[in-house]
Amino acid sequence: MAYVTGFPARQSERANSRQWSGGYNVSPDSQPILGSVPGLDGYWMAVGFSGHGFMVAPMATRVLAQMIAGMEVDMDISGLDLGRFDRGELLLEPNVV
Ligand SMILES: Cc1cc2nc3c(=O)[nH]c(=O)nc-3n(C[C@H](O)[C@H](O)[C@H](O)COP(=O)(O)OP(=O)(O)OC[C@H]3O[C@@H](n4cnc5c(N)ncnc54)[C@H](O)[C@@H]3O)c2cc1C
Repeated sequence: MAYVTGFPARQSERANSRQWSGGYNVSPDSQPILGSVPGLDGYWMAVGFSGHGFMVAPMATRVLAQMIAGMEVDMDISGLDLGRFDRGELLLEPNVV
């Protein structure tokens, strides 16, 4: 905004100066946490998307629905369970903006 007010001749560009921001919820390895929680029957998680949540939403909702319905999960997401942090099996994602 300082750019626009500091340069009156650029007022017409004001419409292009909008911005949007928000917080990322980032997991320790920047990968989502998908699945059930040991010891909490009926509690399911699809969290920690680390800035990739729109992109992976179709996959995440599909596999979570399959798990909740007790169906066979048609994608290997075993490495995205909550237990990976205790096991020290992080899947470090380097591409977080
Ligand atoms: C600036 C920015 C840019 C991004 N760009 C991309 C991108 O280009 N591509 C991409 O794939 N992802 C992007 N993301 C990430 C994406 O937006 C998130 O990963 C995704 O929205 C996560 O979805 P979610 O449903 O898990 O959580 P959210 O979208 O955060 O939804 C959680 C909802 O729960 C509600 N809530 C919270 N607490 C409570 C409560 N106690 N009771 C009831 N409701 C509650 C909140 O109000 C919110 O509506 C971006 C995120 C940000 C912030």
